[in-house]
Amino acid sequence: MTDLNELPEGFGQADPDFMHEAYAEAKKERSETGDVLFLKSGVTHVFVLPPHKDAPSWFREYREHGIRPEGKFTTITCPKEEGDPCPICEAAAVLWDEKTNESITAAKRLTAKKQFLYNVYVFSSPDGKALKDGIHTLKSGVTVYKELMAYDSDDAGGWGNITDLTRGVEFRIERTGRGRFDTKYSAMPVPQRTNLLEKLDAAGFKIGPPTDLTKVYPARKYDALLELLEQDVPEEEKE
Ligand SMILES: [Zn+2]
Repeated sequence: MTDLNELPEGFGQADPDFMHEAYAEAKKERSETGDVLFLKSGVTHVFVLPPHKDAPSWFREYREHGIRPEGKFTTITCPKEEGDPCPICEAAAVLWDEKTNESITAAKRLTAKKQFLYNVYVFSSPDGKALKDGIHTLKSGVTVYKELMAYDSDDAGGWGNITDLTRGVEFRIERTGRGRFDTKYSAMPVPQRTNLLEKLDAAGFKIGPPTDLTKVYPARKYDALLELLEQDVPEEEKE
């Protein structure tokens, strides 16, 4: 057996205090760059959290292109939102103007689609996420967003303010079907108010800080996007 006290020459022990801080920092890194939860087939049961302190709303809307650099599907945040030019939008505009069937199909493929991000707690999900995993950044398309917004604004119907931490609403978001055209989403509220803080407390968890959603999926620079677009390989047409 190897004696752990006798490290090979040149190696040392990690400083526990240093590592403790580094672990905390690493967690922050992940949550702000790419630790995004996608809705998988089945039911994802969530509680959408109130806005980050610097945000005007509990969701972030952005636009996303989907292209295939070197044949690999990649999503790309459109920089136009931040007032910067976008080579993919420019290419789509040229194709729209050509007005042939082929060019319109190609333009549609390059056109950016609305996407939405939220800070959520997950009660359960098809891939086994739970409250203990802390706050996730959830991504959805327009359908789920519209349903969440409908309940959030429906004061008259007895809903409203779905992100209230002591009187909020849990949602069961279901994804069914397969493929680009058959996949469907629906979001159903659990029909009683939830005190999330109490639930977390009862489970022995403290509410963590939310992610600044504007830092997730930042737009890249024009030249970087142009390079990806030049490598774009459209999918073969399937008969
Ligand atoms: Zn764009």
